[in-house]
Amino acid sequence: MSIAENLERVRGRIATACAKCGRNVDEVELVAVTKTHPAERVREAIDAGQTLFGENKVQEARAKIPELPSSARWHFIGHLQKNKVRHALPLFELIHSVDSLDLAAAISRIADENGYRPRVLLEVNVAGEGSKFGFKPETLRAQFEELLALPRLVIEGLMTIPPLAEEPESSRKFFVQLRELRQQLQSTGGSDLPQLSMGMSDDFTVAIEEGATLVRVGTAIFGKRTPLRQRIAASGGLDD
Ligand SMILES: *Cc1c(COP(=O)(O)O)cnc(C)c1O
Repeated sequence: MSIAENLERVRGRIATACAKCGRNVDEVELVAVTKTHPAERVREAIDAGQTLFGENKVQEARAKIPELPSSARWHFIGHLQKNKVRHALPLFELIHSVDSLDLAAAISRIADENGYRPRVLLEVNVAGEGSKFGFKPETLRAQFEELLALPRLVIEGLMTIPPLAEEPESSRKFFVQLRELRQQLQSTGGSDLPQLSMGMSDDFTVAIEEGATLVRVGTAIFGKRTPLRQRIAASGGLDD
């Protein structure tokens, strides 16, 4: 299957999921996740009409993005280290993964120095998994006013990565929890949070049924990612 065919199939499944739950297909944007895939592969997706892409490492994005047409738009979806914020701000139009008050404050401060107004989503660890980044729902409720008060951030919504599961249906309750948390925050904070970033290759149709406005899809478009170890071996060593 070519990238163009995969993209067409994913777009078809998005349209079917929207039709099934009575949503307009324009309400859901596809973020094609290009992490680990080289610029040539991304270019194939651009040639097939895809314009929005996601990367999860600043280092990799800094190398790849300049190789591609400036018409491509980029979202950051990975854990952002504070010392990478300065490099991330000019590259990405939306950061999906603000996962602590500390990081949010750092982004706001650095944006202020550089004249940016970064659009961000707050990442929520809805299942409370110990190994995962993200606000716990109760922490987010407690810190939401402080987050809203950060002068430079434009907080547009929430993002989540549910626990790994065999069945797409297993993710549904976590997507519902994210949507309900959004509702609570909107009514207490009086702010509008239009974006819900949820759903990946295995469960994006379920996420759309539960209100996703951004789905982050990698494998279903670009195929399986080569594990880092094999890439290191193939390239003859570590380069970052
Ligand atoms: C890699 C990644 C995705 C895409 O995952 P697939 O299962 O390959 O679709 C989505 N979101 C985040 C945060 C990721 O890191």
